[in-house]
Amino acid sequence: MQRQLIKHVLERTDVGAKVTVAGWVRTRRDSKGGFSFIELHDGSSFSGLQIIADGELPNYETDVLSLTIGSAARITGTLTESPGQGQAVEIKAEVVEVFGFADPDDYPLQKKRVSFEHLREIAHLRPRTNTIGAVARVRSALSYATHRFFQERDFLYVHTPLITASDAEGAGEMFRVTNFNPADPPRAEGGAVDYAQDFFGRPAFLAVSGQLNAEAYALALDRVYTFGPTFRAENSNTRRHLAEFWMIEPEMAFADINDNSDLAEDYVKYLVRYVLDNCSDDLEFFNKWVQEGLLDTLAGVVDGSFERITYTEAVDILAASGETFEFPAEWGSDLQSEHERYLTEVAIKKPVIVTDFPFDFKAFYMRRNDDGKTVAAMDVLVPQIGEIVGGSQREERLDVLAESMDIKGMDRDHYWWYLDLRRFGSAPHAGFGLGLERVVQFTTGMQNIRDVIPFPRTPRNVGF
Ligand code: ATP
Ligand code: MN
Repeated sequence: MQRQLIKHVLERTDVGAKVTVAGWVRTRRDSKGGFSFIELHDGSSFSGLQIIADGELPNYETDVLSLTIGSAARITGTLTESPGQGQAVEIKAEVVEVFGFADPDDYPLQKKRVSFEHLREIAHLRPRTNTIGAVARVRSALSYATHRFFQERDFLYVHTPLITASDAEGAGEMFRVTNFNPADPPRAEGGAVDYAQDFFGRPAFLAVSGQLNAEAYALALDRVYTFGPTFRAENSNTRRHLAEFWMIEPEMAFADINDNSDLAEDYVKYLVRYVLDNCSDDLEFFNKWVQEGLLDTLAGVVDGSFERITYTEAVDILAASGETFEFPAEWGSDLQSEHERYLTEVAIKKPVIVTDFPFDFKAFYMRRNDDGKTVAAMDVLVPQIGEIVGGSQREERLDVLAESMDIKGMDRDHYWWYLDLRRFGSAPHAGFGLGLERVVQFTTGMQNIRDVIPFPRTPRNVGF
């Protein structure tokens, strides 16, 4: 008999039908009347399925009574109306087939609540918990919604390389890619490591962004987006930074910073609406157990418009706030997480798009504004998380771009192909990067970014 996922069985109303399900036991209760209740989960939905296993089953004593938490089994039985609360249907088992038991003395996920910190130590088992399972479903829904959003708007999905020779952010936070023997790399005269003899014939790194390559495609195909892993060797142990994360980067030709802000706002709202519509059981769980008020916050994001202010206005708001920040807000320094949260949670109380940041601490490719001090950058900030989107209109003027690179101490020859894009049919264009994990955090209320990616990579942590 064909096996069905539990989420589909839970929607059925044809009591009396035969069904087969398979999954992992979450609880087993034995009744004095000589039968057992088993709660089975297969990850397809937040709720599990209740199974009634009668004492008359031929393997009741040998198998059913040994079905401990975490055991895997396949069950065939009859769909019946459930007299209990919380579910409409249950299964009266006719065949119980056990694939693997889980020793209750060893299996770490027993009935009691376990901290998220502890679950990180058992990252291979944590998807079997309510919370991490729900996070996985929301994350998948957000990924699917991303492709839908961009495909519906005629963006082409472009795969940009993960190995690169360019530091797209100019922040020097890159992991080196080499196949040298670290104990004995070839050396040039003078003793420096000779990367000319390395695999790629020059220094190579894991990409911090796919943007520069995406720009090349946008300046041929108009609207593109990348969606892939991104690597940053930032040694910052925060609750919103990973060394490996997934980024979505749209890039549009013939677009300016306002088009960019409009796209970012539409996209974030689309994502939130998508999970509200498609992950309601999971979100209700997060609202109840992880972050009170989550559903109200998300509904507010979908209904309201994002506030738009300039960096200069943001600094003025922060300076006038009377608040003592760890890092005082002053014109010329980047907004810190505490500033982002003050703006979105206290001052403005909704998502904010901050534009026109100082050239000094922004990347070389951002378009210089006429004031000579700022660039056409835009960050989207949301309550609880802070920045989820960073983007800009790109500098399309060859001479200005070359000058910006000189000021930032970058080697023009190295970026010859990027400069070529301004030499041949240059056009205004804009784009941004959205960190998938930050949106998973925002839509689930999960505090730590390590708990919204299956196997997090952070400083000193690559074990799974
Ligand atoms: P932050 O100031 O938070 O470090 P950033 O300015 O370095 O962010 P960008 O270079 O603009 O970020 O990257 C675009 C987006 O990618 C960010 O808005 C954020 O959503 C996400 N992002 C950046 N760095 C990380 C990271 N280390 N871990 C997870 N997501 C990240
Ligand atoms: Mn950063």
